[in-house]
Amino acid sequence: MKISDLGNLEQLFLSLDTDPGKGLSGKRRQELLAKHGANKLDTESNKSALLMLLSQFGDIMVLILLAATLVSAFLGEFHDALTILIIIILNAILGFAQEYKAERSLEALQNLTAPNARVLCNGEITQVPAESLVPGDIVFLRAGDKVPADIRIFDSISLEVEESPLTGETVPVAKSEKGEDSQVMAYMGCLVTRGRSSGIVVATGMKTKMGQIAGMMQHAQTDPTPLQMRLNRLGRVLVTVCVLISVFVAVAGMLRGEAIYKMFMAGVSLAVAAIPEGLPAVVTLCLAIGLQRMLRRKAIVRKLPAVETLGCATVICSDKTGTLTQNQMTVDKVYLAGEQLSVTGKGYAPVGEVLGLNRVRGEAREIYAEISALCNNSHLQGDKQRGYTIIGDPTDGALLVLARKFGVSRGFLSTKYEAVEEFPFDSSKKMMSTVVRHAARGHYLVLAKGAPDVILSRCSTYFTQRGVAPLGPATVAEIKQVNEKWANQAYRVIALAYKASAACPRQREQADTDLVFVGFAALDDPPRPEVASAVLACLRGGIRPVMITGDHKATALAIARRINLPYSQDSVITGAEIEALSDKALLRRVDRLSVCARVYPEHKMRLVRALKQRGHVVAMTGDGVNDAPAVKEANIGIAMGVTGTEVTKEAASLVLADDNFATIVAAVEEGRIIYDNIRKFIRFLLSCNAGEICTMFFAMLLGFPLPLRAIQILWVNLVTDGLPALALGMEPGSPGIMKRPPRPVDEGILARGMGAGILFTGLSIGVLTLMVFAIGLARGLTLEHARTMALSTLICVQLIYSLACRADDSGRAAPLSANMWFVGAIIFSFALLGLAVYNPVLQKVFDTVALCPSDWLLIGGASVIPLILGRMRRLLLPSR
Ligand code: ADP
Ligand code: MG
Repeated sequence: MKISDLGNLEQLFLSLDTDPGKGLSGKRRQELLAKHGANKLDTESNKSALLMLLSQFGDIMVLILLAATLVSAFLGEFHDALTILIIIILNAILGFAQEYKAERSLEALQNLTAPNARVLCNGEITQVPAESLVPGDIVFLRAGDKVPADIRIFDSISLEVEESPLTGETVPVAKSEKGEDSQVMAYMGCLVTRGRSSGIVVATGMKTKMGQIAGMMQHAQTDPTPLQMRLNRLGRVLVTVCVLISVFVAVAGMLRGEAIYKMFMAGVSLAVAAIPEGLPAVVTLCLAIGLQRMLRRKAIVRKLPAVETLGCATVICSDKTGTLTQNQMTVDKVYLAGEQLSVTGKGYAPVGEVLGLNRVRGEAREIYAEISALCNNSHLQGDKQRGYTIIGDPTDGALLVLARKFGVSRGFLSTKYEAVEEFPFDSSKKMMSTVVRHAARGHYLVLAKGAPDVILSRCSTYFTQRGVAPLGPATVAEIKQVNEKWANQAYRVIALAYKASAACPRQREQADTDLVFVGFAALDDPPRPEVASAVLACLRGGIRPVMITGDHKATALAIARRINLPYSQDSVITGAEIEALSDKALLRRVDRLSVCARVYPEHKMRLVRALKQRGHVVAMTGDGVNDAPAVKEANIGIAMGVTGTEVTKEAASLVLADDNFATIVAAVEEGRIIYDNIRKFIRFLLSCNAGEICTMFFAMLLGFPLPLRAIQILWVNLVTDGLPALALGMEPGSPGIMKRPPRPVDEGILARGMGAGILFTGLSIGVLTLMVFAIGLARGLTLEHARTMALSTLICVQLIYSLACRADDSGRAAPLSANMWFVGAIIFSFALLGLAVYNPVLQKVFDTVALCPSDWLLIGGASVIPLILGRMRRLLLPSR
């Protein structure tokens, strides 16, 4: 596409072979997609598989082992060298598999929040993935969208685009269909901040301006979570300490006159025993599995750290409309020329009628229907067979359907009127208006609708059965009473107004004054059925749900009652009251709030700040462009997957695929489960490592021969421990998970007595293993035989202890049958132990000998002791 073609629209449509009224056909789009390729930027490919595999060898533990291999080979100990090498490779493969799976599922998640675009296809407006756009597509842009491709604008209304991804300039630029090339183009990746427009795609993918600027692409990045960072730090400390201890022990042994190679291997074994090799990989995998579980419950995590913060949430601020309610609006009642009429038929199917409509004068009926249909930004899609859906704002959709019930369709109106200007709805204005021109008579009409108080304050006259009359205070009071009554019945009330004028009002202020009040529409938006129990779950789990809405207070309270959201006089606030409060005064009230009505977007920000200042961990939902700052500010920003704008999604750390409040609660639950599970396997892995250190360290202190060989410890750490640890990461939530208060955010991973528990368990594992080893030696068995017994004891104690790790802090665990992975892992690990002891080949590798039943009796007896001790400890110290 040559830039010079951009000026001439006709030419452009022709050269791209597209009809601005119909768009491309589905078939043609497919062909073009095949020709031009997907509309996406080639980001530098994420970590390649080979790189990932190689990075497994960069680990400090692996480096120590490689050094050990070299030394062994150098000293002619080929048997050791080979075994260590095999184990390193096994470990690398295991680590690689875990990382690969984690990485891929994170990547898949990123794709899930990929943006959509609204295109005209076969004459119908449909939503498609932005990646499928092709040159020639007719697309629609509106405030909050991310421009999905390079688009030549036509037919725009007060369009403004923020081009900072291209220019760095954050002040929005006005766009329109006429002007210089840069003014008629909306470029891929930029944000629509105002207005709306149609446009034709002229370039996609790497051919866009964005695609040409190499290296500027923002990478989908997965920041490490606070927990991962803390673990990395813990890991580094452990490694340093262990290496020091190992060197100390080895040197001390050599000074005592032990063989150098033996002491070297002892040092290596100790280091290997102490370093929790499996930990980072298991944490990452556990997070990735958790994300998939959240996804199954319709919550898409965009920023990894949110997974942890979710479990700490103490307040969930949720939009009412569409999140607590279904966002399936129907007009139930009409107030028009003093008459209160009811409407039949539910949902978006345009069947039903306005009862008693004939009592109203024709002129009033006409203007009411025209405002409903033309001051409207939605489209009705579908037919009797397929069912009806709306594209656009559900409030507008309900009114569009109402217009049909008045007997008026937009198709008919489009011959009578010509759209001139639109001042779109915006939560901070709480009304919208359009200007149309009467095609035959040439005069202009302003058609407006919005929140009753806002509209009424702009009206000076009203429509009666006898024509237009001045609007006195008595009439206003009467009208407001109707509004109040309906709001109390949980209706969202919209006021309709209009005015006729000879000149075209171009400014919003000019348009929205001196209006004629026409009537009300009462919109029913029933609560989602699952919300009441989700609210209850929050309250039980120490989380306070807060309803936030732009609707009238009475509407908000009526819905609050229906979803069992408890409120009292001082827990309800309106936007006007927030406005009047100082930051300090707000701070005092914010702890008790549960319903915020007639709220404006900027109040959300103040609420989040105040709540955070009071020490709360705040989850905040949002959909519109104006919500993005508050969503970003919240500890957990939540965007709506269906109705949300791209801008808000980008600011959010969690996206709800179904816009449902219950999904937030499910995500919180999953967040708690993930954290619990991470703690479970950290408890397990660290206890096992502590046990191995104790075994080796005490043996050296007591002057025993080494009870375990380096290879044996490696085998235990990397293979027999790894699988149960992984399986612990897949535990379902324990029964009490949503019945306890949220965990404090700054709580350390080893908090609540876990550190002490690990030391205690480590000590008992060490003592027991050493004891069995000593008994073996005392019975005059060979060193190999005694070592085999020590190894078996170590593995059995650990595997049995892993059962205890399934319980949460209160000692409760899900039934074992709920985690068959775990059962499988334990059986598999026991089987591996059996192989290591009885299989002749593995006997050679690990220096083991076959054990007899009396040995197993001893080992079994020793293995259950920690369980008994742990039980006793729990009884003595129930607070753990
Ligand atoms: P909510 O967050 O509950 O959706 P909004 O701020 O979007 O609240 O809406 C506030 C009020 O603005 C509503 O009570 C209604 O009276 C009015 N309103 C909502 N949507 C529209 C619309 N599309 N056009 C005109 N007025 C609207
Ligand atoms: Mg809204």
